[in-house]
Amino acid sequence: PPATVAEIRKTFLDFFASKGHTVVESSPLVPGNDPTLMFTNSGMVQFKDVFLGTDKRPYVRAASVQACLRAGGKHNDLENVGYTARHHTFFEMLGNWSFGDYFKRESLKWGWELLTEVYKLPKDRLWATVYQEDDEAYDIWTREIGLPAERVVRIGDNKGARYASDNFWMMADTGPCGPCSEIFYDHGPGIAGGPPGSPDADGDRYIEIWNHVFMQFDMQPDGSVKKLPAPCVDTGMGLERLAAVLQHVHSNYEIDLFDALIKAAARETGIKDLENPSLRVIADHVRATAFLVSDGVIPSNEGRGYVQRRIVRRGIRHGYKLGRKTPFFHKLVPDLVRLMGEAYPRLKAEEKRITEVLKAEEERFFETLETGMEILEASIGNGNGRPDTPPLPGHDASATVLPGEVAFKLHDTYGFPLDLTQDVCRERGVTVDVAGFDAAMDKQKAAGRAAGKFKMDRVLEYTGSGHPFTGYEKLEEPAQVV
Ligand code: ATP
Ligand code: MG
Ligand code: MG
Ligand code: MG
Repeated sequence: PPATVAEIRKTFLDFFASKGHTVVESSPLVPGNDPTLMFTNSGMVQFKDVFLGTDKRPYVRAASVQACLRAGGKHNDLENVGYTARHHTFFEMLGNWSFGDYFKRESLKWGWELLTEVYKLPKDRLWATVYQEDDEAYDIWTREIGLPAERVVRIGDNKGARYASDNFWMMADTGPCGPCSEIFYDHGPGIAGGPPGSPDADGDRYIEIWNHVFMQFDMQPDGSVKKLPAPCVDTGMGLERLAAVLQHVHSNYEIDLFDALIKAAARETGIKDLENPSLRVIADHVRATAFLVSDGVIPSNEGRGYVQRRIVRRGIRHGYKLGRKTPFFHKLVPDLVRLMGEAYPRLKAEEKRITEVLKAEEERFFETLETGMEILEASIGNGNGRPDTPPLPGHDASATVLPGEVAFKLHDTYGFPLDLTQDVCRERGVTVDVAGFDAAMDKQKAAGRAAGKFKMDRVLEYTGSGHPFTGYEKLEEPAQVV
């Protein structure tokens, strides 16, 4: 039988332990060493200062399975969930590191060895990318590892800026950086998408599974680079993406862990069709929000707590879409704990509190959700939210933009975060007038000031679905955006 997620984690850590790596625990989703960072979005976060040379560890090789969150700030994959086969908000990243010890050759060769000899991935399905100018990595792939040149792609400065490409990894506008090499798996011609470097590379046929970053520089504010004290390696591989390959399924949402969570979501919503994208969203979001609670983040109106609130409410709205009118989301927590509690003991220990926190948030949101949805439905296109029926009097069926004032009213009175409103609208091919939303917000603030009232600003972590790729290395997002 194919390997389970639990076995895949263990195999990874055992492999790197056998290569002299110290296995390090996953650090919390809220980074302890970096007040400028919203969430831990990759395995390297807990080692950031080790690269810069300002922190020392008793080891020079490390490996971990890191809990990551990419929602809010620059690494927002929230809008991808339910739409791609490969993105989650919360996911687990398998990683190995060299702090001034081994470099490109060992990193790539061990990566290849693990994938092809231990996990036994078919070699002819694997592709690699290297940074345009990185002849050394290119030669290691083609000459030493023997990957055919047709499947080794140089990715360079296609955007004109020296460090703009996907294959030059930058932690932020400043800080540790270096060229990287990524490994892709070809899921086969039945799926839309082109190979890395091609115009339709963003499809889901060739899925990026592992990024190897060769950290060498510390980018300065003026754009010049200083050498790091020593060249380092930082790799990250998505556990769920690897599991999909090993379990012979295409989507992350079809792996053992998600299969079980999706069935639990189907049970709580009474839905039979397990392919329903809303079930995937609910499964993803319950996992992310439960882990956030276990790391101390509770729903609120600002900062990290507002990101938490946005994810919970988004998940609840998908349940509402499937016909749920009463709290259901928190009922998935025991399923999640059964699936992940062993690997993450904190999750298990906090089960009761997680359930209570999520239930309280659900009860609060269900008070306004139905009325808010009625207002929203009435404002979209036909006036009844149904494109298959004639428009109600006074409604323009061809309208594809939701007025900003409506989105603001939903936000202000009914507790609909802007991205939730956008999520509903996107399903109908409607966009939201964000400038109008901002203007309505400003107007209310000004009125509040004029009335001499104190009004807490709401956090708007909006980045939109068309946000440019910035890479997981961009860690400079502010902890709080007001
Ligand atoms: P993609 O281009 O597919 O969005 P990425 O380039 O943003 O991925 P990296 O920042 O290089 O990803 O992160 C390292 C690895 O983590 C990726 O190769 C992938 O396996 C995994 N990964 C990244 N984002 C996600 C996500 N949202 N959900 C699940 N796995 C992810
Ligand atoms: Mg990528
Ligand atoms: Mg990448
Ligand atoms: Mg990405």
